[in-house]
Amino acid sequence: MDDILVLDYDDTILPTTYLKEQFSVEELFDDSPPPEMLDNLQDNIIKVLDSLRHFRICILTNSGNRWIPLTCSKMLPRVWEWITEKNIPIYEAKVRYESYYTDPTTWKQYTLRDAMVNISRVGRIFSFGDSEHDMKAVQNMAEEIGCDYRLFPFPVHSSKEELVRHWEFVHTHLREEVL
Ligand SMILES: [Mg+2]
Repeated sequence: MDDILVLDYDDTILPTTYLKEQFSVEELFDDSPPPEMLDNLQDNIIKVLDSLRHFRICILTNSGNRWIPLTCSKMLPRVWEWITEKNIPIYEAKVRYESYYTDPTTWKQYTLRDAMVNISRVGRIFSFGDSEHDMKAVQNMAEEIGCDYRLFPFPVHSSKEELVRHWEFVHTHLREEVL
């Protein structure tokens, strides 16, 4: 029985909205040194991911064009190291399905279904994300296959500090109620 953690990226792992307000997009992935150290955020993300290392973890995003490898390796290098060391797959839902459907929930739901095709028995699916479609896609998939799910909605367009606090909150919540 496999438990699955589905992670959104923008405004969930990376404080994308905040960073785009502070810096040019190029500064978020060019070769120059990172414009800001996000050490507390990296610490908290890694703490949570470590506590869920027995889950099958995947990143499910509507971004494309190597946005995640480029920005994560630059802005959150220790998180990127964790992701690559653990071979965490990155699924680009919009890239896969936008020619066929218009709804972002459908892109993520169908991509998640593709990602789970080789998993015979699913225990629980957890969803971390800041968008309604992050929650709805996991809920729809879980109901489709009849497994449990837990939704962890993140604040929308959160500041860097809010995101740091929210990962800390998730860590506490997981320890107390889930694991
Ligand atoms: Mg997002």
